[in-house]
Formats: sequence, C-alpha cells, structure tokens
Amino acid sequence: MLTLRSNLESSVAAQNELVRADLPSRFASISLVSVLSLHYLPVQMVGMVYLAYVLVEAIGLMVYRWLEHRVTWGGILLLCSSAFIGVWVFNAIPLLLFVQPEPFPKLIGVMLLIIALNHCVVARSAWMFFGVLTAVPIICAVGYMIFSFLNAFASPMENLIAAVILILGAAYVAHSMWALNRLTGRLRRALRDAKAGSRAKSRFLAAMSHEIRTPLNAICGMAELIEEEDVDPETRRERTALLRKSAQALTSILDDVLDHAKVEAGHFELSLAAAAPRLEIMSVVEMFRTSADEKGLRLDVSIGPGLPAYAEFDALRLRQVVGNLLSNAIKYTEAGHVSVAVSSEQDGGQSTLKIEVADTGRGMTAEQLSHLFTDFYRVEDKNAPSVPGTGLGLAIARRLAQMMGGDITVQSCPAEGSCFTFTCRVRVLEASEIVVDQSQSETPDQDESALDLGVKSILLVDDTRSNRMVVSAFLKKGDFEIIEATNGAEALSCLESRQVDLVLLDMKMPVMNGRETLTEMARRGGRIGATPVIMLTANAAPEDRAQYLALGAAGYIAKPVKKSVLLSEIRKVATGRDTQAA
Ligand code: ADP
Repeated sequence: MLTLRSNLESSVAAQNELVRADLPSRFASISLVSVLSLHYLPVQMVGMVYLAYVLVEAIGLMVYRWLEHRVTWGGILLLCSSAFIGVWVFNAIPLLLFVQPEPFPKLIGVMLLIIALNHCVVARSAWMFFGVLTAVPIICAVGYMIFSFLNAFASPMENLIAAVILILGAAYVAHSMWALNRLTGRLRRALRDAKAGSRAKSRFLAAMSHEIRTPLNAICGMAELIEEEDVDPETRRERTALLRKSAQALTSILDDVLDHAKVEAGHFELSLAAAAPRLEIMSVVEMFRTSADEKGLRLDVSIGPGLPAYAEFDALRLRQVVGNLLSNAIKYTEAGHVSVAVSSEQDGGQSTLKIEVADTGRGMTAEQLSHLFTDFYRVEDKNAPSVPGTGLGLAIARRLAQMMGGDITVQSCPAEGSCFTFTCRVRVLEASEIVVDQSQSETPDQDESALDLGVKSILLVDDTRSNRMVVSAFLKKGDFEIIEATNGAEALSCLESRQVDLVLLDMKMPVMNGRETLTEMARRGGRIGATPVIMLTANAAPEDRAQYLALGAAGYIAKPVKKSVLLSEIRKVATGRDTQAA
C-alpha cells in the first residue's frame, strides 16, 4: 500500500481548507456570471452549464469532506479530476461568450478568464500540483481567445510576439503560485511548530508540577510532623533528614529546568579553571555513597593510571555530568552494585577523560535507548518502582559533554544493567600553571563554635522573614552582630547611621530592590560605597552572577542558601577586603 508523504498530506489538507473556505464566493460569482450571460446566451445552454458546474462542485465537496478524515491516493485522484473537469465546465461560459459575433461578450469572456486565473493563484496555490492543474485549462482558453482574435489580421511576427507574452504571463502565474505556496508553507510550518512548542510546554508544566509536588508533599508533611512534641529524637532526626532531602530534590529540579532553558537559548558557557580531575570525581562519588548505602548497593570506584594530576576544565559541569549518571545508576538499580571507572588518554597537551558508570539495574531496551537523551524522555515501566525525575538530566548532560569536546554513549540490556560512558577533553596543566579556582568547589561544613569569618557586623537585607531567619540561624554561632533590614531604603539609612563590615543583599524587594541599592551605595561612595556586598538572590543563572559582580557586588550566593557556601563566600569576601586594606 502506498504511503503518502507527510508534506503532501499537509499540502492537500491546506488546499482542501482553502477551496472550502472559497466555496461561497466562488458559487456566488458563478451564479452571477451565469445570470449576466443570459443576455447573450440561450437559457438552455446556460442552464446546462450551470447544472454541470453544480454537479462537479457537489462531487468536489464530498471528496473534500472525505479527504478531511483520510488522505488517500484515490481521494486525491478524485479531487484532481473533479477540479480539472470543474475548470473546463467553468471555461464553457467565457468561451461561449467569446464565440458570439458582438465584441462586448468577447471582452466579457476574456475578463472572466482573467478573474479565474487570479482565483487559481490566490486560492489554489497551497498545493502546487493542484494549482497548476487548474490554471493550465484557463491559460489554454486564454491562448485560444488570443490566437483566434489575431487570426483575422495579425502577421506571423505579431503572432510570435503574442505567443511570447502569453508564455510570459503563464510563467508569471506559475511563479506567483510558487511564491505564495512557499510563503503559506512557511507559515503553516511556523504554526505547526508553535503549536508543537505550546503542547511541549504544557506537557513540561504538567510533568514539572508532578515532579515538584512529590518533594513538596514530603516537605509540607514533615514540617507539620516536626511540630509534634511527643517525638523521640531519632524520629525527629529522620524527619529532618527527609525534609532536607526533599528540599535538595526541589533544588535539583529547578537547576535542571534552568540549565535546560539556558541550553535551549544557547546561553550555556563553560567556565574553565585549574582543578584536579581525581579530586573532583572522587568528591562526586562520595556525595552519592550514602544514597547507595541506603539502597544496599555497593559503590566501587577505580581510577586508572595516567590521569592528569591537574587540568583545565569546568569542574562544576564535570561534577554535574558524573553526578547525573551516578544518581541515575543508583535511582534505577534495585540490587547489586554501581561502579565508576575512570581512565584517560593523553595526546600532546590535551587529555581525554573517560568516565564509565555501570550498574546492575533495570536496564533499557534498544527502542528505549533510541529515545534516550531526548528532552523530557522517561522510560515508562509499570512493573518497576516509580522514581522521581524530570527526563532532562541526560539531555543536559550529553550537551555538556559535547561542549567539553566529548560525548555520552550508553550500552544497556533490560534487567541486566546499563553502562554510560562519558568522555571529555581537558587541557593538562604543568605544576607551574596551577591556580586552583576555589569558587568552584564547596568547602565542607565548618565547626560553628569556631566561626570566625573576619567580620564584626553583617547587615542582612531581605524582605522575606523566613529567608532572614534561615541566614541568621546559619550565622548565629559567629562572633558578630547581625542587623536586619527589609528593603534597600532601610539598609541605606542603617548604613548612614553606623558602620557595618558586610552587607548580604537580596535582589527582589519592595521600595528599593537589590540592584538599586547597589547603585545607590556606589553613588554615595565613601564608607558606604566601600562596604562589601554579597548578593543573596534567587536569580540563579551564571550570567546573573557576572551581572551582579559587574554592578559592584563583592560576592554572590544563589538561593536556596547552603550554610557551607554562605560561610565560605563571606570568608572569601572578608579576606579579600582585608587583603585590599593591607
Ligand atoms: P530522570 O532520571 O530525571 O527521569 P534523565 O534524563 O536523567 O531523567 O533520564 C531519562 C530516563 O532514562 C530516566 O527516566 C530513566 O528511565 C532512563 N535511565 C537513565 N539512566 C538509567 C539507568 N542507569 N538505568 C536505567 N534507566 C535509566
């Protein structure tokens, strides 16, 4: 059986729609022309032509309706035949008028054909073949009229000139049809893409809403349960741990969404810096050890010889890719083990890191593998335990790997396990070139009792009380004063009245937002302008960081705030200030 190509189907569907939309005006014109032509033609003749036309249009209508449900070769053949016969039936009236002895009906005949040609260009170009099929009989009729008119007096040269003009006219009609066809085709495709995009966004929102609700449910539930008074410390610890885990899950969903949006918009950039590949990989693996232990999975790591001690690469993104593969391996494995094997191949000053993450989990079929790395794709397996996820992690990870000059490939077998291989290129560094960027790696949690951040007073500016509570609680063991303000204007009047060592500034606030506050502090200059500011904001894209630093902020922390990150950023900024002051 013949399968119609999808673009032919869409052309036929668009043409079908156009011809049907044009039906009332087409019918009204034909009826009017028939009535007017009665002035020159006998009523029986006009009546017969009109009836034939109605019959052909009725057949055409039935075929159009049929094609609306299913486009088949039989339907297309019937549509073309009815349209072709319909044009000839229509031509009958102008031709009959033309063969009259008086000059005026001849003129009307020509005028009617010109209108018909215009109709072909405007209403029949959605499907080129159909348009040409119906225009050719009209052009033939026009040709017949021209040459039978010229026959009476024209020289061969004049006939030739008329033929050239006719061909030119026909070519112009064809070109206009083609141009309109391309334009409407582009519009149709744009409309289809827009609809598909809108459907994908709705699916995405539905998926996100579901994914966000799962950890949110745990957060709300645990928050309520923590208030219960008759709970033993162990249960309370378990509940708090679940609360923290769910909050982390929410954060990682948001990170995925943000990364996906950035990749889509082409805003993703790697930030290269010196780092130790072994250290970075080991620290990600260790981050997942607890989750592997909780599921009773063995987590092995083997690092082959020859791994460069230091190299230039984006450590944060490398950790993200390895973390995604590891998190999946643990999520989709119920029993057995997960192993990470690292090797490298050096050529010249570059090295290709190869990180294999293998598991003994549920695995995937060849069909499922063919969709992997597609945005939002998740394997539907009703028999396996349901696992939360967005279906974005692998798509982002592969794009990151490709940006790093490598790729991610996978081998998998259902019920046996999977092995993901991530490769990336790094520039090997000599000992003399090494300046490790501390900003990319988190410092471990500090002992709060020994909290000395190098500042005596901190002005905390945030309109949301809960945010101020969290930050104050993180800093409460420190030997410094915390002053609170709820917007930029309050912060400025506080800075006018007293000296503070550091400002933690939220971005989105009423009265005066963070950006305005930063600008105003710089404008006032002196002691106020020199006070270091750390932006503490929910605008978490990397370009936001660069933007705030360019505005004069000394540091940047994305919400949700992690205690270790907060302390290390404050320490970094305070030490920087000391160094500058020295
Ligand atoms: P998520 O895990 O958030 O759903 P990913 O893009 O990371 O999104 O993964 C896409 C899908 O690929 C997952 O939903 C899962 O069905 C499948 N998958 C990924 N890794 C594994 C694995 N190690 N074993 C089995 N299936 C996997």
